[in-house]
Amino acid sequence: MENFFSLTYSDLLCRLKDQDFNTRGASLLYNYLYKKGQLNFEIPNLSKQTQTWLKESFSLDVGKITKVSGEETRKFLIQFSDGLQVESVLIPFQGKYTICLSSQVGCAMKCSFCYTGTQGLKRSLKTHEIVGQVLAIKEWLNELEEKAKISNLVFMGQGEPLHNFGAVKKACEIFLDQHGLSFGREKITISTAGYLPGLQEWLVDPLSVNLALSFHCPVDEIRDELIPLNRPYPLRQVLSLIKELPLEKKRFVTFEILLIKNLNDSIEMAQKSAELIKDLCPLVNLIPFNPFPGSPYQRPGDEAITTFQEVMESYGIPTMIRKTKGDEVLAACGQLNSKVANPS
Ligand code: SAH
Repeated sequence: MENFFSLTYSDLLCRLKDQDFNTRGASLLYNYLYKKGQLNFEIPNLSKQTQTWLKESFSLDVGKITKVSGEETRKFLIQFSDGLQVESVLIPFQGKYTICLSSQVGCAMKCSFCYTGTQGLKRSLKTHEIVGQVLAIKEWLNELEEKAKISNLVFMGQGEPLHNFGAVKKACEIFLDQHGLSFGREKITISTAGYLPGLQEWLVDPLSVNLALSFHCPVDEIRDELIPLNRPYPLRQVLSLIKELPLEKKRFVTFEILLIKNLNDSIEMAQKSAELIKDLCPLVNLIPFNPFPGSPYQRPGDEAITTFQEVMESYGIPTMIRKTKGDEVLAACGQLNSKVANPS
């Protein structure tokens, strides 16, 4: 059975029209299911006939939360109908929440510093499984009577979102839709390791959300080791494609720079990085390496991190150090591994 949460608003309008139902039902449905978080079709003002057709035609399965860990930053294990699971992370920030979403079960990119990569790719998520992560967590918060708003969505969980562009794009359209969750375009960020074919799809089929690039290192030989994807799709090609993306004026591109001790944390690396990105309206996020069982790298000392930041800022590039959140429950960047965390 088709899942309701894979339908964009215009898909829904078409389905209702095809059935000769009142298309005003589309906004009622979006309002109840997305804004109010009601997960059934018993909607007043919707004819019994429409309700019956909806029940017979669409599933409202959003995936099942099978485990929650952590106290402030919380990691959710969410299971889908085929038994596979992903992790999503809920991060509190200034009285609001950010959800870190997964786009695939596992990941095919095999970045050498990332725990998820050691898991390999099981499969890509479908649109409703991406949307479902937000709805399942929203429902969980409602049950706690937790009023804080989910203000931001970042595709920084498991998977490479641009390796699943179609489903991710549709999910973003559903998140942005004003009849439903109504996220602002600047509140959604897609982070990529530099998957060029996905960026090319983005170029021909524009998507109005923020882009973050896992930049990590300006030197190809080292970036090849960190992100094997750099061999077929080298950094400079990725950067020139990003320049062409129709991001709106004054829209920043975020560059994530993972800092690893004695590998890419030197002043020279900072200078080279700044030279490469300074004309791209950059915002830099420095991410000190988060260790995981068996990882070969180390986190740099605080001094090296601050010096790196100062160099970037001397080029006029706003630079933030990402404070590690959730590492006590392996929920920080690159620590998500639903297979190891939950062996079957
Ligand atoms: N595939 C996407 C999104 C997933 S990872 C991407 O590569 O951008 C989100 C961010 O966490 C990326 O910048 C990634 O490089 C970073 N990351 C991965 N493993 C990490 C680790 N062990 N420590 C710190 N950051 C890590």
